[in-house]
Amino acid sequence: MPENISNHLKQFRSDMEKFLSELGDLNSTQIRERSLDRGYYRLAQPEKYGGLNASHLQLAIAREAVASAGIEKTNDVIGPDPGMLAETTKHIESNYLFPMLSGAKTGSFAFTESDPSTPTVAQLMGDYLVLNGRKSYVSGATEADFISVVLNVVSDSVGPSGPAVVIVDTDYEGVYINEPFYSTDGSSHSEVSFDSVKVGSSNIIGEIGKGMPRAMGNIIRERIEQAATATGMAICAVTLVSEHLRMPHRSGGTLGDMEGVRLRYADMRIQTFACRSTLYRAARLMETGEQSINEASSAKLFCTESASSVIDTAIQLVGGRALIVGHPLESLYRRIRSMRLAGGASDILRLGISRGDLEFNSGIL
Ligand SMILES: Cc1cc2nc3c(=O)[nH]c(=O)nc-3n(C[C@H](O)[C@H](O)[C@H](O)COP(=O)(O)OP(=O)(O)OC[C@H]3O[C@@H](n4cnc5c(N)ncnc54)[C@H](O)[C@@H]3O)c2cc1C
Repeated sequence: MPENISNHLKQFRSDMEKFLSELGDLNSTQIRERSLDRGYYRLAQPEKYGGLNASHLQLAIAREAVASAGIEKTNDVIGPDPGMLAETTKHIESNYLFPMLSGAKTGSFAFTESDPSTPTVAQLMGDYLVLNGRKSYVSGATEADFISVVLNVVSDSVGPSGPAVVIVDTDYEGVYINEPFYSTDGSSHSEVSFDSVKVGSSNIIGEIGKGMPRAMGNIIRERIEQAATATGMAICAVTLVSEHLRMPHRSGGTLGDMEGVRLRYADMRIQTFACRSTLYRAARLMETGEQSINEASSAKLFCTESASSVIDTAIQLVGGRALIVGHPLESLYRRIRSMRLAGGASDILRLGISRGDLEFNSGIL
């Protein structure tokens, strides 16, 4: 049981673990229905949208619990949060936010560009924008009803210009979503291009020129979510190995009898302990409302890299059967690998953390 959390959170965690243990082999739809019924599905949504407005720490504990139970799609249990669509306009709330929170619509996020010759830009023409450009790695784009696109608005000398986030319906004329490709974690992504796509300016999230802070706010939330999921995945691997080390082994005893194995197992436990400590501290810092980009990035980087090491060692200790397709460790291994790139590659995060201190004097130890 994690230390230094309130009795309320301890009870929450234990209730949730019991709920998760009863899900068995249910499919995504069935899990979502059960979770909606028990209220967990709306944990990440503000009260004014009918949600439970869970704190960052409570959400971290919830996501960690889901991943440690071996459930692959955390969002089946903890549904969508408003993300960048929170605190916007009535138009965005009724056309995108509410349908997304109720499950009637799904959205994707387009940030990454791999080809500098096709940057995504929008020309402001009165009360609409014309978009051109290409995004390279948009998760879930083929199923999405809309995409929140990070772009640069260019304007005549008097109009506003700068970074912005614009909602683009996937059925707008000029939006081209390529055949999906699949990453090792099983998720699907597409290249999306925009060819003179006309979008009403009411679809701009926030203000032109202030798109980057909004996009970064979304990325910070995503990073702490990834830290929580990675920590849960490390706990899952430790639990599997703990059981394995107690089983009879062909050597005559158990693997857990061997000192060399115990050394490796201790390292797995130490790394997982450190992940959890880092995650909870970063989540608490986010609750203070202070700028916590460096801490969320540190937690994402540390937890995903440590969990990768824990899961790798787990496979080594369990042996060949751990690599058979369908084994829980094989799935953990594929999924944790992509988490060191998605949401910010580890080295890019390292650069940001150093820059935070050296150039902006921000970040704590
Ligand atoms: C499963 C998955 C889901 C994703 N979903 C989305 C999504 O929904 N929307 C979206 O927009 N993107 C998404 N991405 C893309 C993801 O954000 C990028 O892959 C990630 O930011 C890295 O960018 P890149 O792939 O262009 O690699 P690059 O930026 O080219 O980086 C590759 C490597 O180059 C090195 N490197 C790069 N720049 C520097 C530097 N300045 N200094 C030192 N080293 C450097 C680092 O080692 C880095 O790991 C997803 C990726 C994955 C794997």
